[in-house]
Amino acid sequence: MDLEDSIAAVLAQRGCRITPEIIRAIDTFIAVVEDNFDSRGRDRDAEDVDDPTDQDPSPTRMIDCPHCGERLPIALDLTSGEQDGIQDCEVCCRPIRIRYAVEDGHVSGFRAEGS
Ligand SMILES: [Zn+2]
Repeated sequence: MDLEDSIAAVLAQRGCRITPEIIRAIDTFIAVVEDNFDSRGRDRDAEDVDDPTDQDPSPTRMIDCPHCGERLPIALDLTSGEQDGIQDCEVCCRPIRIRYAVEDGHVSGFRAEGS
């Protein structure tokens, strides 16, 4: 193991005789260090899962593409009244006309059609 050799070399440079007991002590030391690395990695992963900022807050609605029939998520803009726009299908790349009205953050009259 490279780490074990490095530690043994440092000890030898400082005048320490490398005995089987020293080698076992180095092995124990390396095992403790590696355990700490592992637990820190698990903690970081858990924080990522629980982090609420990972969630996408933008509202979407699933539609069927009027050209190819593929189900697609359409991002909704809930900030203003009448919405009328073109969004290209992610699958067939043809334009879809998206129309809807927004009242108090609620979508009504949603229509998705080929243009
Ligand atoms: Zn399509």
